[in-house]
Amino acid sequence: MSGSRIPEEILDVIRAAENFVVVTHVQPDGDAVGSLLAMSEMLKDMGKRVFAFLDEPISHLYDFMPGCGRLNSDAEEMSRFIAESGTDICVIALDCGEADRIGRHRELLMAVSPFVVIDHHLSHLNFGDHRWVDPRSSSTGEMVYEIIEALSQTPSYDCAFSLYVAICTDTGSFRYECTGPRTFEIAGKLVELGVRPNHVAGLLYENYSPQRLKLMQMVLGTLELCEDGQIACIHVTRDMFDESGAKVQDIEGFIEYARSISSVKVAVFIKQTWYNMVSASLRAKGGCNVADIAKQFGGGGHRNASGCKFPGGTIESVRQQILPAVIDAIASGGDRNSC
Ligand code: 5GP
Ligand code: MN
Repeated sequence: MSGSRIPEEILDVIRAAENFVVVTHVQPDGDAVGSLLAMSEMLKDMGKRVFAFLDEPISHLYDFMPGCGRLNSDAEEMSRFIAESGTDICVIALDCGEADRIGRHRELLMAVSPFVVIDHHLSHLNFGDHRWVDPRSSSTGEMVYEIIEALSQTPSYDCAFSLYVAICTDTGSFRYECTGPRTFEIAGKLVELGVRPNHVAGLLYENYSPQRLKLMQMVLGTLELCEDGQIACIHVTRDMFDESGAKVQDIEGFIEYARSISSVKVAVFIKQTWYNMVSASLRAKGGCNVADIAKQFGGGGHRNASGCKFPGGTIESVRQQILPAVIDAIASGGDRNSC
């Protein structure tokens, strides 16, 4: 069992309902897609009707996932599914730290009751009818596994594969702080169910386009160190995407290189993904809580990984806002109690 117990009412709701809409956050990462597919797969295996909604086309980084063809991005179809289901319907939101992260169809989805939330973000802002929020869990994938086990279900191979991808990506391949004994126990069970770590690692980390590498060269060329090397800052501009031919999703993982420098306590990645949208990613090594920094700018996340958005901002204006906040956070240390 991970850090907290699954609320019994969540298990009761899942047992009782026949129709489910399963959703996750915008710009879905491996944990989001993996948890969504695994939860949907388990519900389907329990004989339920499932609408697995992803509000955007799946990233090419994850389109190898089994079952991703079943993801549906048609909001009108989802609306019909909800209407047809009458009162026997449940929405499950996975890996969403706040209601806004659900995206454009939040109102339609949140009008449904019961609305179940399963999440592991430290900065979680409560929403929904029934919540299981466990910031000590390595990933939402780990929590979905606990639910599957609590319901006495056995994950199918596809389900196990999706859970493994979720856990592997959100733990940085079993390296990050919340990777605990239970994480390895669950990963071991998934391997027993047929998942091959070498196969998944190949699909996740040896499956990139040359354009991604070209973009990485450009982005790493922007590296600047400040505060005696304690802060590393990199950025990407829309022009770099266009010049390299890489896609927006290709920047996943770049910030890890900035954090990898030994003197660095906090890495900052400022991203102009579209001309009118700049966002920032923050990564720490445990010494300071970057979820708190992101919260100052309306974002959120985990102790060691967070993000926030600056609509209409420029790389320079965002740098000027974020760096003082990072310097303050490093100066004041931070608690070390949770992930
Ligand atoms: P990333 O830097 O990979 O985009 O995000 C790192 C973490 O911060 C993820 O757990 C993600 O959920 C969270 N995060 C990123 N952007 C935002 C945001 O705009 N709002 C909130 N609440 N969380 C964010
Ligand atoms: Mn997650």
